[in-house]
Amino acid sequence: MSYDHTLKPDPLEFYQDTEGLVLQPGKKPWSQTSCRFCNSKDNLAINVDDGGFHCWGCFVNGGDVIDYYRQAHDASFEEACRALGCWVESGPKRNAKRAKPVVNALQALHILHSELMIGYIVVCDLRAGKQPPDCDVDRLAVVVSRVGAVLEAYHAQ
Ligand SMILES: [Zn+2]
Repeated sequence: MSYDHTLKPDPLEFYQDTEGLVLQPGKKPWSQTSCRFCNSKDNLAINVDDGGFHCWGCFVNGGDVIDYYRQAHDASFEEACRALGCWVESGPKRNAKRAKPVVNALQALHILHSELMIGYIVVCDLRAGKQPPDCDVDRLAVVVSRVGAVLEAYHAQ
């Protein structure tokens, strides 16, 4: 009984077909859509490659379709995986050794620290009255995906 990331649904299919969102293509790989969390029309940015999402209205965010499902449906990680068909009840993986995490805890903290630093710099610019350029906003979206990827690496253990 475990999560099988290879069975995770395609982000585009999940957001459009399962969640019924209408995606407006933006700068690749991002699309804009309505946000169910704050009812905004187009504040939710979705990364159609990895399923990461971020709302510029209410700041809800996550690294993949499982994170989205959990928050949208108030589900646990296991409930979300079951609903999305990426929870394996039994099979060859059952007796397999637990996979080692891609990064250890210290490396993960280093990643989170450097990614948070980018967010901090953008916030400092904002406080100084500087409008952040698109590249900084895009980089912040990458921050969200990277932190989500770290989270996923640990979920997958
Ligand atoms: Zn929102």
